[in-house]
Amino acid sequence: MPVNVKLLKELCQTPSVPGREARVRKVIEKHVKPLVDSVRTDAMGNLIAVRKPRAAGKKARVTKATKKVMLAAHMDQIGFLVRHIDDKGCLRLQNVGGFDTRNLFARNVKVSTAKGDLPGILNPATKPVHIATEEERKKIPTIEEFYVDLALGAKEVNKRVKIGDMVTLDANFVDFENAVASQCLDNRVGCWAQVEMLKKLRNHACEVHAVWTVQEEVGLRGAGPAAFGVEPDFGLSCDTTLCCQTPGTPEEMRVTEFGAGVCLKIMDSSTITDIKLVEDLERVARAKKIPHQRGVLPRGGQDGAMIQRSRAGVRTAVFACPVKNIHTVVEMAHKTDLQSYPDLLAAWIAQVK
Ligand SMILES: [Zn+2]
Repeated sequence: MPVNVKLLKELCQTPSVPGREARVRKVIEKHVKPLVDSVRTDAMGNLIAVRKPRAAGKKARVTKATKKVMLAAHMDQIGFLVRHIDDKGCLRLQNVGGFDTRNLFARNVKVSTAKGDLPGILNPATKPVHIATEEERKKIPTIEEFYVDLALGAKEVNKRVKIGDMVTLDANFVDFENAVASQCLDNRVGCWAQVEMLKKLRNHACEVHAVWTVQEEVGLRGAGPAAFGVEPDFGLSCDTTLCCQTPGTPEEMRVTEFGAGVCLKIMDSSTITDIKLVEDLERVARAKKIPHQRGVLPRGGQDGAMIQRSRAGVRTAVFACPVKNIHTVVEMAHKTDLQSYPDLLAAWIAQVK
């Protein structure tokens, strides 16, 4: 079956930064509603969809022995909130999530106001190369030095833009033969995989709690409260991870292999995953001939950390799609890695007793 690129594109083109997830949540809810028994949004903004067990295509009885599987994909993307409007009408930004400022020069951005989105240009407050000194040319600016030009003038900007409005980078979604490239594949891919998994799922003995979490990019803030509410037996974090199979990075630092299948993380700096659970996922993947790989990320975390440590502790595994150029507007994912992701989620969930 070909990868459902259309849904992934829709998710990637819907801006939502930490604390401003309403727009992407609405899109996800629309796609998920027909696939589940209930959908709710909790106090923090996490979207929680529940699918009761199914046997012979019908809803099955839930008993005390019924296992709960919680999936968590963060639906926020790295971005900015407006911090200040200067006397020329230029915006200064507060980043929400980690940026490499070298990737922020001369970018199209979208400023999302109460009355709609405005186009803007993001650039550092520096001179063009023609008139910059040798010293100035070498300097890498900090986030504080970047500004957004809306080409509207101070009066109009002050009328339309408020402190706290969301600003996101705005780039195209490119559909290659074997891959896709876009802004915020981290983590619209995980959001997408959970929806696609629910579409595939037929009969299952466990109760599925699929959660799309908020504020992951500013410190895994949504997943903990969500896990506390769900009280799962198993946690599956659905995110992306680094693929550094690119010139300039030695082979032993690649983290994942591009196109070798979804990565089951062994550890990152937030979580050491449940190795027995990883082995069980690998057993199912081998039986169903679903491409998969292991990966170790020396630095970086994801929502699984909060699920694993909620209440009295939860057995947790971490799914991660390999992504090249992560945290840029040209994040790239292989279609084999994309397809294997919902395939393995569905295959494993279908056999949980
Ligand atoms: Zn992520």
